Amino acid sequence: MALTGIEILKMLPKKNCGECDVPTCLAFAMKVAAGQAEIGACPYVSDEVKEKVGEASAPPIRTITLGSGDNTFEMGGETCLYRHEKRFEHPTGIAVMVSTDMPSDDVDGRCRRFNDLRYDRVGMELKADLIAVKDVTGDEGAFATLVEKVRTDCPDAALILMSDNPGILSAGEGKCGDHRPLLYGATGENADAVAEVAKETGCPLTVIGDNLGNAAEISERMKGAGLKDLVLDTGARTARAVFEDQIAVRRASIKHKYKPLGFPTITFPCEMTEDPLLESLIASVLVAKYAGIVVLSDLQGETLFPLLLERLNLYTDPQRPMVVEENIYPINGPDEDSPVLITCNFSLTYFIVSGEVEGSKVPSWLLIKDTEGLSVLTAWAAGKFSADLIGAFVKKSGIEEKVKHRSLVIPGYLASIKGELEEELPDWTIQIGPREASHIPPYLKEWQPE
Ligand code: SF4
Repeated sequence: MALTGIEILKMLPKKNCGECDVPTCLAFAMKVAAGQAEIGACPYVSDEVKEKVGEASAPPIRTITLGSGDNTFEMGGETCLYRHEKRFEHPTGIAVMVSTDMPSDDVDGRCRRFNDLRYDRVGMELKADLIAVKDVTGDEGAFATLVEKVRTDCPDAALILMSDNPGILSAGEGKCGDHRPLLYGATGENADAVAEVAKETGCPLTVIGDNLGNAAEISERMKGAGLKDLVLDTGARTARAVFEDQIAVRRASIKHKYKPLGFPTITFPCEMTEDPLLESLIASVLVAKYAGIVVLSDLQGETLFPLLLERLNLYTDPQRPMVVEENIYPINGPDEDSPVLITCNFSLTYFIVSGEVEGSKVPSWLLIKDTEGLSVLTAWAAGKFSADLIGAFVKKSGIEEKVKHRSLVIPGYLASIKGELEEELPDWTIQIGPREASHIPPYLKEWQPE
C-alpha cells in the first residue's frame, strides 16, 4: 500500500536542512510519495525507514535490469493501465532468437541485422534491444560458444539465455562476464534447481507457467526461495491467449496489487506463426498491450521499423512534449549570404524541417525558437510563437552577426504575422516560406535575400 506524503513526513528527521536537494522535509516527503525522489536521498533516515518507504513506494510491477554499464535494458516499473493516466515507463524490448541448432550463416545474419537495423528519429536511435540464445541440442559447450559469439558480435545486446537445463544456463551465464542476462527459465519441474543458478549468479529469472494461474504459483515459489527479480511467461502461444494474459497480468498487478503477477512479461510471437508478417502483427499488439519483451524469429527492416515507431509513439510521455534546444542550427555549412529560416522547437517539426533543409543541399541557418514543444500553429494560437517573442529571440540569438543580409523566412502558416514581425524587427524583411516542409527544398533553391 503506497504511503502518503504526510505518512512519510512522520518518519523523516524534520531538520529542514535541504541536503536532499529539496528545501524542506515536507516538500521532500511529497516528492517521495509522488515517486519523484528516492527516500535514500535524505542522509539521516534509518535503514528501517528506507526499507519501509522503499517497499511501500515500489511500483506494482517490479523493474528488472539486464546488461551492464552503458548497455543496460530495463523493463517493468509500470504504474498505470492507460498511458494518459501517467505514462508508460519502459518500452517493450524487441528481441531476436538464435539457437544452437541454427546454421552459422543464419546466426550471423541475425547478429548482422541486429547491428545494422538502426534508425535515427527525432534525435533518438531506434533499434532492437535483445538477443535470445536458445539451447535446443542440450549441448553445454555449443550453448556457451553461441553465447560467447553473440556477446562478441553484438556487444550492446541484452541477452536472454534459454534452456531447461540448469547446468547449461550456468555455462551460458559464465560467458557473459559482468553483463547480466535474463535466465529462461523456471518451469514446474526444474524450478528449484534453476532458482539455485539465479541465486548464485544474481540474474533475473523467467517463470514459465502452463497458464496464468500456474505462472503465479511458480512465481510464489520463486519468491519463497528468496528471488525478487522475476519475469513472467504465462505459456500462452496463440495471439488471443497471450493478449488476454497480458491484460490480466497488468490489471492484477496494478488494480489489485496481486504480488505474484507483479513482474514484467516475456512473449514469443516467433512461436505463434510461421508467417513473418503475421508475427510482426502479433508483436505490434503486444507492444501496445503491455509485453515487457517480444521475441521475434528474425529482424527485417520492413517489419522492425514500424514496430519501433509504434513503440516510440506509445512510450513517449504524453505530458512532456519532445523538444529540441532553442538555438541557431547551421545546416550544410552556411555563410553570411545563406538564408535564415525560423521554426518552433517541437522535435518532430525540427527534424522534418532540418531534414528537408539538409536534403536541399542549400547551406542555411535554422533558428529554433522555444515554444515549449508546441507545433507552429498551436504555439502561435497559445501565444508562444507571436511576433513580439520571435522578434526578441531573433535580436538576442546572435544571427545578426552571422549573416550580412536581413531576410528572415517564417513558416507559411504564420503569414498573418508578417506585418507585426516587421514592426518588431524593423531592420529585417520577412519572407513567407512554404506551408509544407516538403516544399522547402525547391523554395531554398530559388531563394534570394530581399
Ligand atoms: S535531507 Fe532529510 S532532514 Fe534534510 S531537508 Fe531533506 S528530508 Fe529533511
